[in-house]
Amino acid sequence: MKRSVLLGMLIAVGVLSIAVTGYQGQPAQPSGARVVDILKLKDNLYVLTSSTPGNPATFSGGNVAVFITDGGVTLVDTKLAGWGQAVLDKVKSVTSKPVTTIINTHTHGDHTGNDGFFGTTVEIVAHENTKTNMEKMDAFKGDNAKFLPKKTYKDKLTLGSGKDRIDLYYFGAGHTNGDTFVVFPALRILHTGDMFAWKDAPLCDRNNGGSCVEMPRTLQKVIAGIKDVDTVIPGHSPMQTPKDLQEYQKFTADLLSHSIDEMKSGKTVEDAAASFKVDKYPGYKNERVKGAVQAVYDELKK
Ligand SMILES: [Zn+2]
Repeated sequence: MKRSVLLGMLIAVGVLSIAVTGYQGQPAQPSGARVVDILKLKDNLYVLTSSTPGNPATFSGGNVAVFITDGGVTLVDTKLAGWGQAVLDKVKSVTSKPVTTIINTHTHGDHTGNDGFFGTTVEIVAHENTKTNMEKMDAFKGDNAKFLPKKTYKDKLTLGSGKDRIDLYYFGAGHTNGDTFVVFPALRILHTGDMFAWKDAPLCDRNNGGSCVEMPRTLQKVIAGIKDVDTVIPGHSPMQTPKDLQEYQKFTADLLSHSIDEMKSGKTVEDAAASFKVDKYPGYKNERVKGAVQAVYDELKK
């Protein structure tokens, strides 16, 4: 009896000390075998990769941008829960500055999973619809509601100035209804989040307001509205160019019109997906085509 009480106390103390020391600057929790790769794009901008879904042992979540400013480090997204220490280890390998700002491109757990790991002193910024979507997630309920974004915006928001400036844009629905495009104007770099996740059909999360019908239109607005970019950080694949983004927009538009045509001629989702040819888009896969066609059918059948 006594022993179990003592054990309970020890566990409680252990949990408490993890909770206290889990934040940045404190002694590290062992991150075990969890290691993310780091890619240098500029002296003050890095990408934490290891972000391709498929192998659950190595999949850490989406590409994280690490932007080092005079006032501290801004992260764009925070990967899957449990990878916070691995993220922090790599940030510390390139700067001694603390993480002061987190921008979430959208609500999904592989992009918001370690918002809480960095503590309540960090300013979390997201589109207003993303905040609403995050409020529905178990990860942000109860006490964890304190890690919800405190700063939100509707159409455009600028953080910082000069070489530290970051522009956040919202152009409409696609992957969700709250996807932010993050631009580092001085570096000519754009982070698209999962609005351009990979070279395959998009995932349109209709439960979070996503739309494969709106996606090509939204991407068209991005291409028209964001200029002066050389490098594109996609949600989950290696670095791309603005040309790749333009090609992706065409791909999504093609897939939409194909789905509408097939639906009108009474074809099943399976048939419509099978008859969509990705060959004319070099390097593209068709693993997610059926899901996207299904999303279009579901959206248009009312
Ligand atoms: Zn996502």
